[in-house]
Amino acid sequence: MWFTKVSRATRDTQMSAAAFFAALTLAILLGVSGIAAGMEHGLRDARDTFRIAPATGNIVIVEIDGRSLQALPQWPWPRGLYADAITELDRLGAAQIAFDVEFSARSIPEQDLRMAQALAQISQPTILPTFRQQNRAGAKVVISESLPLEQFRKNAFLASVNVQAAPDGRIDLYSFGETTNGTPRPSLANMLAHTGGEVDTNFRIDPAIDPATIPRISFVDLIEGRVARDQVAGKQVVFGNTAIELGDRYPTALFGVQPGVIVHVQAAETLIQSRIRAEAPAPLVLTCAALLLGSILLARNRANTVRRRMNPSVLASVLAVVLLAGALALDQVSWVYLPLGLALVFFAAFVAERSALAMIANLEEERLTNMASGLPNARAMQRVLLRKPDARVASARIADFAEITAMLEASGQAEMDRAIARRLSVLAGEGEVYRINAGVFAWFTSDAVEAGGREGLHEAFASARALFNAPIEAGAERLRVVTHFGTSKGSIEHAVDASELARKRGLAWSADASALHEETQYRQRLLGELDEALANGAITVVFQPKLAMATGAIQSGECLVRWNSPILGVISPADFIPVLEEKNRIDDLTLFVLREAMRRQREAAAAGHSINLAVNISAQLLSDESFVAQLVSEFARFGQPVSGGITLEVTESAPLQDSASAREALTRMREVGARISIDDYGTGQATLNYLQGFPAQEIKLDQSFIRDLVDDRKDQIMVQSTIDLAHALGFEIVAEGVETQATLDALAKLGCDYAQGWHIGRPMAWESFAAILGASAAPEREQAREGKAA
Ligand code: C2E
Ligand code: MG
Ligand code: MG
Repeated sequence: MWFTKVSRATRDTQMSAAAFFAALTLAILLGVSGIAAGMEHGLRDARDTFRIAPATGNIVIVEIDGRSLQALPQWPWPRGLYADAITELDRLGAAQIAFDVEFSARSIPEQDLRMAQALAQISQPTILPTFRQQNRAGAKVVISESLPLEQFRKNAFLASVNVQAAPDGRIDLYSFGETTNGTPRPSLANMLAHTGGEVDTNFRIDPAIDPATIPRISFVDLIEGRVARDQVAGKQVVFGNTAIELGDRYPTALFGVQPGVIVHVQAAETLIQSRIRAEAPAPLVLTCAALLLGSILLARNRANTVRRRMNPSVLASVLAVVLLAGALALDQVSWVYLPLGLALVFFAAFVAERSALAMIANLEEERLTNMASGLPNARAMQRVLLRKPDARVASARIADFAEITAMLEASGQAEMDRAIARRLSVLAGEGEVYRINAGVFAWFTSDAVEAGGREGLHEAFASARALFNAPIEAGAERLRVVTHFGTSKGSIEHAVDASELARKRGLAWSADASALHEETQYRQRLLGELDEALANGAITVVFQPKLAMATGAIQSGECLVRWNSPILGVISPADFIPVLEEKNRIDDLTLFVLREAMRRQREAAAAGHSINLAVNISAQLLSDESFVAQLVSEFARFGQPVSGGITLEVTESAPLQDSASAREALTRMREVGARISIDDYGTGQATLNYLQGFPAQEIKLDQSFIRDLVDDRKDQIMVQSTIDLAHALGFEIVAEGVETQATLDALAKLGCDYAQGWHIGRPMAWESFAAILGASAAPEREQAREGKAA
């Protein structure tokens, strides 16, 4: 998704850098600690299996093998046997004879003599071994050389056959020659290969020279004349022990445990075949590998096309494979050895760490993403908010989202989410658009918007709304959506609530983030204060006069409640009545108003005015058994009104809600002397026909039909027909919301019975109301009193 590009790219780079340096550190530690050397060893062996090569065949071994030991006289063999063997070899045309067999001790003189004579007689000097020996002279360790017998030495070259095993028992290194007690000697292999080379320097034996390709002759076959001339003619021949019982065996890298003589021949073949390899330093190879990966990662980072980038783990793996392949190729064609151990450790560690980091990041991302749409979720936004607690959150709520998306498949819904987010992203600038909930999105507003204050917000949301003028395409559907916006500083919840508030109020946007929370708190406080308010006079009743059209006199009025709270201020009934209704506390208030109405009615009667006062009864109270009983007993106490009496106004929806119990309650109320009025007629579903059977005497036409009566033809028709039909059915008609003389005149013409509204008089305190009782219609005069209106 393009809108997560920035952060994803940065995260990508951070992970690569972290993995890079961790891997490099690990490789360096392994190199310094020497652990890498062991790995290099194993790696070298593995690579060497691809380089196995045959021996030249020019060096032949005469094996002192198990078969010879069995066939020939008891061990150690008389020296005459060796004399016969070399004489035979010489006869067969061997170019050179060498021994990896010690001749430093005297044996039977006759036998030694035979050996010496044979050595003297053959055409080429024989190569005989010298060994280095450690002797103890008291506390001192003395190094000495053990040489062949003097009589043998005369016609022989001497070569050192010392080998030094590595800790693992293998013999990797072999010397060109050694100096013992000041005497330099070439090594046996060097002498066979005629290489020269510097004394006291080593070379690495090539373990890939296959011992099986070194020609071998069994000693006994040679002695008994079973060796053909071409097996040895022109070749160098080395005598050595191969019988297991004689020991002298060493582990080799590729071919298991081999006799010492094989090691010597492998060493000689290494020299003859020029298989000594130069070796690059491991730290250099590591440095090159690190530079290579590092520079590719950097270059790749500069290229902005995220999608074209190769995954760094894959890249490192590829580099490792390429490096390995290159080294293997080099193993074949050249004599350079590239130690790859550290570099491969580096690459492997990089891949492992990079993948682990990516996996962790992915898990984290999943936690922070709405999986269906791929959009970041509320958790992701909350995380940003933790870092910038003062950031301004804007929220968009799609009206009727559930209905809109109901027709879409799941994929279409996700597409819809993305399409909406894409539009909103214009407002989010560089930032992301978060999907908070179904149909609810949020983002952080830009600093410019914030700087613009309320104006800025207004502008931003106006343009935001315009973004949704064109329908949104999702899942082959073109859908028109309406959005409401909300905003709050530092709280997603409040911003979302504000958008909800905007929706409820039909506003484009709302910044009143905590409005809903306050509303809940407000309700709680209202309820808490109700009892006290009823007791201490914070709740009062005002009276709005009703004009009798026929007489032009004020003989009735409506009781309207007022709450002037010392703490909450003046509260409109439109605000607190619904709260009380919802919390089932409306009964107390209603009884309070009813008692007040009765008291005032009696007061007026005492003053000689027969008036009727109307009390509003909430619809739900009609089905409240205990309320109805209390109301009935209030009426009983009140007694039959002398005249006028009390009207109970119920909204037209009441009879519809629960017609049986409403009808019964209204009937009981009527029986005790109440007059029944249907309030706000025309705003609901009720028709006069339907209301016909109800025990009501009066219909109050809602203000909405009266307000434009003079100009609106439709309202005129509605009011006219309602009045006519109401009269036909025996109802009296009251018009609410009469604000002008023209309206009053129109109503008079239409035959309306009573008029109520600001033109007649505003709701007012009892004293003001009492003063106008019985007055004839003189609205001008009443208007003068409006100042006293509540
Ligand atoms: P309602 O019963 O329809 O009362 C008439 C409302 O219209 C009153 O609002 C009144 O002040 C207002 N009004 C009167 N003449 C005019 C006019 O010429 N123009 C305009 N624009 N408005 C006019 P109020 O007093 O704010 O009461 C609002 C509603 O609260 C009442 O509507 C009624 O439903 C309810 N209410 C008031 N007192 C009580 C009560 O004691 N018990 C119950 N249950 N509801 C009450
Ligand atoms: Mg009313
Ligand atoms: Mg009304």
